[in-house]
Amino acid sequence: MRTLEGSCHCGAVRFSVKSHTPQPYMHCYCSICRKTAGGGGYAINIMGEARTLTVSGRQHLGVYRAKLPADGKTVHSPARRHFCKRCGSALFISDPRWPKWVYPHASAIDTPLPKPPEQVEMMLDFAAPWANIPTGKAHTHFREFPAEGIAGWHKKRGLDVV
Ligand SMILES: [Zn+2]
Repeated sequence: MRTLEGSCHCGAVRFSVKSHTPQPYMHCYCSICRKTAGGGGYAINIMGEARTLTVSGRQHLGVYRAKLPADGKTVHSPARRHFCKRCGSALFISDPRWPKWVYPHASAIDTPLPKPPEQVEMMLDFAAPWANIPTGKAHTHFREFPAEGIAGWHKKRGLDVV
């Protein structure tokens, strides 16, 4: 597996996580990603093994749980979006529904990541109208989540790192 080193912009928080799925191929246009981490209209999350996550400067970590409408009520999303309280950098997402994994933002990773051969443009039902969604053979579009998970995507293309 590859060790990915990440940090916020001000350097107060550093983290490290091992990943066998380092391709930053998934562009998420949902409103939460856009607002919290998506200057270009989307955020890119990759996936690492939660048990290998180490964090320094943990006292500077903030956690955001988005409020979402559900059956006429408002509920907190289970996803925990970790960010630096000093500089605001979006760092990684953890989710008790998938405790094996942690989802670092590609933008927070300092280790050089591979350039993905193709990209997924997802949650397009929620994209900002100004977002210029790339099209063409290298871009697969999804209105919501794709059925294929991050691990499956890497494996199918022979891109998983063992
Ligand atoms: Zn910071």
